[in-house]
Amino acid sequence: EPSPALRIADATDVARWWPRLSAGSEKYTRGVVGIATGSHTYPGAAVLSTAGALAGPTGMVRYAGTARAEVLRAHPSVVAADSVAGTGRVQAWLCGSGIGTDAAARTALHDVLATDLPAVLDADALTMLVDGSPADRLRDRHAPLVITPHDREFARLAGGEPGPDRVAAALALATRLTAVVLLKGDRTIVAAPDGTAWVNPTGTAALATGGTGDVLAGLLASLLAAGVDPVRSAVTAAYLHGLAGRIAAEHGPVTAPDVASALREAVASIIP
Ligand code: AMP
Ligand code: MG
Repeated sequence: EPSPALRIADATDVARWWPRLSAGSEKYTRGVVGIATGSHTYPGAAVLSTAGALAGPTGMVRYAGTARAEVLRAHPSVVAADSVAGTGRVQAWLCGSGIGTDAAARTALHDVLATDLPAVLDADALTMLVDGSPADRLRDRHAPLVITPHDREFARLAGGEPGPDRVAAALALATRLTAVVLLKGDRTIVAAPDGTAWVNPTGTAALATGGTGDVLAGLLASLLAAGVDPVRSAVTAAYLHGLAGRIAAEHGPVTAPDVASALREAVASIIP
């Protein structure tokens, strides 16, 4: 078998892929992203993933879940609904971060997977996926899917730790699930079922703090909703997320809201 091409993401790629505004842009054509994250127990995950989505290129963010009061307080531009099924028009979904694994969370995941829209699955959505035998659950789904595991989430999905060859491990899982795999780490890997793989060079240990993964997942979903292809969305989100971590770290110890705030500066620094 030919060894897959491993590419290193750079600012030129990301600048080329980032959607631009035009005079005729309006909020719906820029894309609408649906966020099914957070819970009464973890409202912060909903606030952070929404913050990531709002820093992306879409024109509107819709939130579906039980943390709507917290989300609306933090982000007044968001349109909230009670459920995925009850949410108006959306072009891509994020399901996961802090949503839990109770009956309502299972319904949200089921309803997201039942759409023919691109989707990002993170955190608790990956846990729920494991319970249902992931490859079987995803077999009939044809819309683009991106999963964003850290190592422990990866181990549950893949049946073992990524090991020393993280690229090969991510590619194997991508093939098995027919999904783009964004394997988080100090050098995040993006692997696709067709054998292409990218490594992100912008990571910083400043991101090793609670909630930063939620910000990343929101930004990634926003790119998908704007119509960017799944591999490019994942590479772009990882690249800008790393840059934002570095920018935030210039001002002192980093928290996840700092990373979300710094995303705008990260985008501005590379988009001409
Ligand atoms: P999560 O574990 O879901 O909160 O996601 C953590 C985020 O921080 C991911 O984007 C990781 O790639 C990033 N991250 C965690 N630790 C490090 C590290 N030591 N160096 C670079 N990035 C990291
Ligand atoms: Mg996480």
